[in-house]
Amino acid sequence: MKYRFADRMDGLFGSAVRNPLFEDPELISLAPGKPEGSVFPAEELIPIATDVLLKYREVALQYSDTEGLYELRDLIAKQRMAAAGVDCTAEDITLTSGSQEAIEMAAKIFINEGDTIIVEDPSYVGVYNAWKPYNPKYVGIPMDEDGMRMDALEEVLKTTPNAKMIYTIPDFQNPTGIVMSDDRRKKLAELAAEYQIPVIEDGPYSDLYYYGERHPSIKSFDKDGWVVNFGSFSKIFCPGFRLAWVCADPVILEKFQLCKQGSNLQCSTFDEMLALEYMKKHDINEHIEHVRAMYKERRDTMVECIEKYFPADVKHTSPMGGFFLWLELPEGIDTGEMLTEACLKYKVGYVQGEGFFCEPGRKNFIRLSYSYASPEKIEEGMKRLGNLLTKYYK
Ligand code: PMP
Repeated sequence: MKYRFADRMDGLFGSAVRNPLFEDPELISLAPGKPEGSVFPAEELIPIATDVLLKYREVALQYSDTEGLYELRDLIAKQRMAAAGVDCTAEDITLTSGSQEAIEMAAKIFINEGDTIIVEDPSYVGVYNAWKPYNPKYVGIPMDEDGMRMDALEEVLKTTPNAKMIYTIPDFQNPTGIVMSDDRRKKLAELAAEYQIPVIEDGPYSDLYYYGERHPSIKSFDKDGWVVNFGSFSKIFCPGFRLAWVCADPVILEKFQLCKQGSNLQCSTFDEMLALEYMKKHDINEHIEHVRAMYKERRDTMVECIEKYFPADVKHTSPMGGFFLWLELPEGIDTGEMLTEACLKYKVGYVQGEGFFCEPGRKNFIRLSYSYASPEKIEEGMKRLGNLLTKYYK
C-alpha cells in the first residue's frame, strides 16, 4: 500500500520523551516531564464528579462555549493571572486543550511559510513538531543564567524583518530549568512593542517555584498587547483534564477561538466543570503548595546526587523550580548513542538533548526530570547514570 500523504507530514518525528526503551519495568526513567500521579486529588474529585453529573447533567454533558465556561475563566483571571501580576477578566481568557494546542494554534495564527520564529536555544522539543506543518525558519537565542539574552535578541530583531513571533518559557524553562530575570522580562515586553512582534509566553511551570517567590509574568509588563500568556492546569493539577488557557489582547484571542472552533469546537465541558467545582470547593493554592513541597524534595535529591555520583566536571543547571535539569557533557560524547547502553545495561533512562535545539548536531546534552520518579528511585537512577558517565569520561 502506498499512501499519498500530504507534504506537511514530511519530517514529523515521534517524541524523544516517549521512547519504547523506557518501558522496561526494571528501568528507572528520569525522562518523563509528567507529574507524579499520587498528587492528583482523586478523593476530592469523586464527590464533585458525582455532584456535577447529578445536578448539572444538562450543562456538564452538553456542548458549551468555545472560549470555555465563564466562571472557570473568571477564577483563572482572579487567581492564576493575578498571581502572575496580570490584571485581567474572564473576557481576556480562552481555554485550550492543554497549552500544546495553544502552541500549535500560535503558529497557525502568526506564521506564513518561511517566516522566522525566535526561540530560546534550546527550547521545548514539543514546539518543533507542532510547528513543522507551517514550515517556519528558526533563530535560536542563547541563554545565560538569567534566561534569553536580550542583546542577542535585539540584534536578531534588527536584522530579521520576517521574524513573526518570539516563543519563550521564562519560568524553569524546559529543558534547562533556567528562569528569566525580571529585568529581562520587562525588556522583552518593551522590545516586542518596539518591533511589533508577538511574544508567546509559555508558563506551565510558573507556579512551581521551590525557593523564593513567583516571578511576575512578561505579560505583566505588557502595555500594548504584544504578549500572549499561556497557562496550564497540567503540572499544577491534572494533565489528564487537558485544560489550559490563553490570556491575550481581544483581537488575538478571537483568532485562537476561531482556530479552536475549527479543530475541536471547545474543551470538554465535563472536565471544565470538574476543575471549576474543585476550585470553588477547595483552595487550589493549597494543593499547589503540597505539590511544590513534593517536587522540591525530588529536585534537591537530584541536585545532591550530581555531587555524589557524577564525574566532577559535568556541567549542570541547578533549577529553583519546575521539572527539569540540564546536563552538558564534553563534546564528543553522543548522548543519543549512549542512551541504548543506559537503558539496556545500566537500566536508567533520560532524554537526549539534541532535539531541543533548533538545529541538529549538538549531541552532548541530556535533560533529566525529577517530577515523576520517587526520591529513592531518583537516587538509584542517578547512581546508575553516574556509573555510566564515569565510564564515558574515562
Ligand atoms: N509547554 C511546555 C514548555 C511544556 O513543557 C509542556 C508539557 N511538557 C507543554 C507546553 C504542554 O503542556 P499541556 O499539558 O498544557 O499541553
